[in-house]
Amino acid sequence: MTSVWGMARASSVALLGVDAMIVEIEVWTGSGLPRTTMVGLPDAALAQAKERCRAAVLSSGFSWPSQVLTINLTPASLPKTGSHYDLGITAAVLATESIIPVGALDEVIMLGEVGLDGAVHPVRGVLPALLGARQLGITKAIVPASQLSEAELVSDMSVRGVRNLLELIVVLRGGQGSDALPNPAPVVLDPQAPDLKDVIGLASARWALEVAAAGRHHLYFHGPPGVGKTLLASCLPSILPDLSQDEALEVAAIHSLVDISIPALPTRPSFSAPHHSASLASLIGGGARIARPGAISLAHRGVLFLDEAPEFPSPALEALRTPLESGEIVLGRSEIAVRYPARFQLVLAANPCPCGLASTPSSKCTCTPMAIRRYAGRLSGPILDRIDLKAQILPLRRSLVGFDPLEPESSQSVAERVQLARNRQAARLQDTPWLTNAEVPGRYLRKELPLPGGMELLERAQTSGGLSARGLDKVLKIAWTIADLAGVGRPQRDHLAVALGLRQGEECIG
Ligand SMILES: [Zn+2]
Repeated sequence: MTSVWGMARASSVALLGVDAMIVEIEVWTGSGLPRTTMVGLPDAALAQAKERCRAAVLSSGFSWPSQVLTINLTPASLPKTGSHYDLGITAAVLATESIIPVGALDEVIMLGEVGLDGAVHPVRGVLPALLGARQLGITKAIVPASQLSEAELVSDMSVRGVRNLLELIVVLRGGQGSDALPNPAPVVLDPQAPDLKDVIGLASARWALEVAAAGRHHLYFHGPPGVGKTLLASCLPSILPDLSQDEALEVAAIHSLVDISIPALPTRPSFSAPHHSASLASLIGGGARIARPGAISLAHRGVLFLDEAPEFPSPALEALRTPLESGEIVLGRSEIAVRYPARFQLVLAANPCPCGLASTPSSKCTCTPMAIRRYAGRLSGPILDRIDLKAQILPLRRSLVGFDPLEPESSQSVAERVQLARNRQAARLQDTPWLTNAEVPGRYLRKELPLPGGMELLERAQTSGGLSARGLDKVLKIAWTIADLAGVGRPQRDHLAVALGLRQGEECIG
């Protein structure tokens, strides 16, 4: 008895964080009792793929091999998760049945989940998968039709969208797929977004916010509840420059792993404010098998705001240390470690004590000195040392509310100054890998750039124990940002003095 067998091969992508690897889907059919097996480290959702694919093929009017059918995903050692391999599995099975030509599957990436009725459903991670595949030299992809506009954000790639298996067959036989969906609506800036024109008073704290925006410095607001810490923090994105094309792709790639569909590239930095009761996994990323991105990665190139920061569990705060230094987080899991970008701008806010009322004029604080010390101590030295600017906000005197003779400046006009200061930084740092003052390593600041006037101020602060080595570098960075905002070529003694005050958290009275 001669054995009759067939084989076909399709390609898809495994995502480890935002890093992509090509997965080959091999389908083999041979004589024997009908049986379908899947090998190559599938997870539960993927193990069910054979049932979904079989139902989809049958309900689309085609036959499923009535023999032994083996589906192998390689490399076998790589854990595979999710339902996006369905489309490639189905295509390879249809090729063994000669419904589509085997050669049509060469060099094309397929992503999509199939429904029992043969419909092709959207999946997470289309954008990072295609960005990664493109880097690996792949130039053709087939994706769910509803995600065609997301897939087309990847340049130099020919992408086809399919709504169901019949369209998949048509496309792989050389016909047309679904037309591109109409272009997504242009991004409209949210008129309700927080704006500095709604912030009354708080001149010094507004200034700290502007300096933070200009140099991309991390910021810490300290003061009683109700003084406007949260409102000010939420205004920070409104004065930051637009995202560049590359930054927007990075951000969209991360979001596409969480939101199922990315209709357009983001143009503005995001604002993420996780609550202190959020789990560690939702804050820094995690989950079973291949870890998913957390709030710190969703805030990549945007603002991460931790209100009532001392209330966050210390493992959560400590977990911020590495991404604050490196701009990324590596999440180790039992099976594999994944990496996500996490270059966020951190804004912390804290009350002076657990009840929040210490330091208000008519202090009704009932906290014990012990409780206040313990509360303050929850923000550890290493975290505070990585914060560039500290601003203490005291309550606005009631008599002044409503009597401010000047209309508060709007976010738009502050944003223009921030952009000019960023341009000066970009010009100064054009031969370096850095774009903003906050990123520049201390060594470069001290050796390659002219030192500001008034360095003895820093020596004095260091000798008196009020300034760490990292703190000294931070003051230099802030001084450069202040000089950039002032439009001068080199920080002066005054700039350094102001920078030292901002670093050490002088009082900002409304
Ligand atoms: Zn209190």
